[in-house]
Formats: sequence, C-alpha cells, structure tokens
Amino acid sequence: MNNFNLYAPTRILFGKGQIAAISQHVPAGARVMVTYGGGSILRNGVLDQVRQALGERLVAEFGGIEPNPDYATLMRAVETGRAQHVDFLLAVGGGSVADGSKFIAAALHYRGEPWDILSAGGKVESAVPLGVVLTLAATGSEMNAGAVISRRETGDKLFFSSEAVLPRFAVLDPSTMFSLPQRQTANGVVDAFVHTIEQYLTYPANAKVQDRMAEGLLLTLVEEGPRLLAAPEDYEARANVMWAATMALNGYLGAGVPQDWSTHMLGHEITAVHGLDHAQTLAIVLPAMLAARRAPKRAKLLQYAERVWGLREGSEDARIDAAIDATRAFFERMGVPTRLSGHGIREPRLEAILGKLEAHGMTALGERDEVTLDVSRAVLEAAV
Ligand code: NAP
Ligand code: FE
Repeated sequence: MNNFNLYAPTRILFGKGQIAAISQHVPAGARVMVTYGGGSILRNGVLDQVRQALGERLVAEFGGIEPNPDYATLMRAVETGRAQHVDFLLAVGGGSVADGSKFIAAALHYRGEPWDILSAGGKVESAVPLGVVLTLAATGSEMNAGAVISRRETGDKLFFSSEAVLPRFAVLDPSTMFSLPQRQTANGVVDAFVHTIEQYLTYPANAKVQDRMAEGLLLTLVEEGPRLLAAPEDYEARANVMWAATMALNGYLGAGVPQDWSTHMLGHEITAVHGLDHAQTLAIVLPAMLAARRAPKRAKLLQYAERVWGLREGSEDARIDAAIDATRAFFERMGVPTRLSGHGIREPRLEAILGKLEAHGMTALGERDEVTLDVSRAVLEAAV
C-alpha cells in the first residue's frame, strides 16, 4: 500500500427526514444562498423542506444551474451572492449543482479572474462555507473537494479541486430520489460504478481494504441498480445506491492505491464536443478502455472477473473477455448505451475530441501515464 493523506471532514446526515437537521449545522445568523438546478426541487417538495429548515437565514435563492454547470451561469450566481452579502451556500440538487456551488463558493473569495481557477491552476485558498442537500446519487461531489465546470462559449469542461470547498455537511435522504427519471437513476449508478473502477482496476498495490471496499461497492451497484429501474420508490435500494455513490468518491477508495481516471478525461471531452450526459460518456469509454489496457491491467482484471462477476472457469484471457462483456452488459441493462452509435452519433468528431485532450494536456493518462493520444484515438475508434 502506498502512503496516503486522507482528509474527509464532511458530516453526513443520512436518512429520511434529515433535511430538517441542517438547521443545527448552519450557523445562526448566517446569510444563506440556496443554489439549485432546473426546478426538480420545486416539484418534489425538497425546496419547501429546505426553506423550512433555514427559516430567516435564507436570504437568496439562485436557480437554473444546468447539468454540466456553465461558467456564465455560475458567474451570475456570484453576482447575486455578492449583492446579498451571502456567507453560506447551500447546494440543493445533483452533482452539477454541488460542483457549480463549489465554484461559486471559491469565486466569491477569489482575487483575480475566476476562470483561472479552472484553466490556469489558480489556487483556491479560501471559499464561502458550503453545505449540500443531495438529490441524485452519482458523483460523490457531496463529500469530496473536486468540481467539474463547463464553459459552452469555448467548448471546455475543466476540473478544479480545493479543500476550501469541501462541503461542511451533506444531507443524503434517499427518498428525495424517488422523483428521478430513469435516465438519471441509471446515470448515477454508472457514474458511481466507474468512479470505483478508476481507483480499483489498475495494478495490484496490496491494498486489501481498498480492494474489498471497491468490490463491495461494485457488487452493491450491480445488485441494486437494476432494482431501482423496476421500483424507483424502493427506499432500501435507494439508500444502498446513495451510500455506495458517496463512498465511491469520498477519498477512501483511492487512498494508498494507483488511480486511472483516463475514462473520465476522455468522457469529459466527449461531453464538451457532443453534449452527452457525463455517465453516458463513461459507459461508452470504459469497455473500450479496459479492452485496450488489458495487458497492464491483467492481474486486476482477473481479480475483478472472479470477485465481482464470479468468473472462475476458462483461460485467463477468456475470463478477462467475459468480465469486460459483463461490464458492458450491466450498463446496457441499466439502459445506458455503450457505443456512440447508441446515441445516434455515427460520425463522431474524433479530431475535435483529441484536439481538446491535447489542448488540456491530457496526453499521458492512466495509472502509468501510458494513455497517450494514440491510445485515446484507438479507444474512441473502438467506441464508435
Ligand atoms: P446533474 O447534472 O446534477 O443532474 C441531472 C438531472 O437530474 C438534472 O436535470 C436534474 O434536474 C435532475 N435531477 C436531480 N435530482 C433530481 C430528483 N431528485 N428528481 C428529479 N430530477 C432530478 O447530474 P449528476 O450526474 O449528479 O452530475 C453530473 C455532473 O457532475 C457532471 O458535470 C459531471 O462531470 C460532474 N461530476 C463531478 C464529480 C465530482 O467529483 N465533483 C464526479 C463525477 C462527475 P434539476 O436541474 O431540475 O434539479
Ligand atoms: Fe464521474
């Protein structure tokens, strides 16, 4: 196991009715801005619960943060926050609202051009404190320091990370997800699955705890994901998926082990160029990436085949093939296509995607920096 430094201070308020508990964790006298998305929280009653819990502390509401949150929208929220002298942000929604609010929190304190935080490594030293009420289990953003922000004007989708934007608390009430459309439920399961894989399916690091935690999360998602498509109001299945998604990207799995993330980096550029949902891109890239990287990942692919898919018979290569096929079949069972053509994209803009990867310095990805532009090209061609 490698050395690690794990800092995961976010308080988790888990379970039905927990939105009311935020009143104990937002300072009395705080000036809170609630940030949210396209309006699902108005229809499912979550915003009412939040208003009730905050009472007088609620001084501003900023809605309209879109999926793949846009820089221009977030900068408007920064203006609102400034005008209202906001000193606490409460993000209510999925990963896009959580990520977008992290950026708003950072930009409110940032001296200089906030775009530099994303494009030029501008360091975020401090931020407005932030809480999250999560309504979509997927990204793990509610308990981590990262955020992915898009800028449609320039076709960029970029990442930043800072301990200053670690949420102070996150409310995980599984029943807030009863109103999710199937597509978003499925996206969430796929995203959490791929987060786990990116930190597990690399090369052995003798990290038994992390490995078995990862396998536990993958098994849980495979078991409970399809159940949610059939029974969207199954509270226990929602609860298990919700906690799995948080655990998949709160730092615990990735501590002390090699990490890949090449599937995510390719996926971000596909979203920027073709506008697919984040998880839709992951379901397309991962099977092709695993196939392309089967040699360096061989030992872990065999472990994955056996422990997650119960594949013990046949040659090693046959088991690896079967594990990759099972992964693809799982995504398809969740209703998420695993090829670009599944979204009607028959002539993908490969040069544009590869050009963005190069411009963003993504030319040596993966756990051993071996995913060059040539490898990315081969993966994308295989994913058409
Ligand atoms: P999302 O983009 O936050 O939300 C997708 C859709 O789901 C929105 O239209 C939203 O509608 C709807 N929705 C959310 N909760 C709902 C509910 N309870 N009922 C009905 N509809 C609901 O999806 P996401 O997958 O959570 O986030 C994706 C973003 O996170 C991407 O930009 C991705 O790159 C990023 N990401 C971040 C991390 C990280 O660590 N920070 C990791 C992976 C991915 P409304 O807008 O109307 O609410
Ligand atoms: Fe993701």
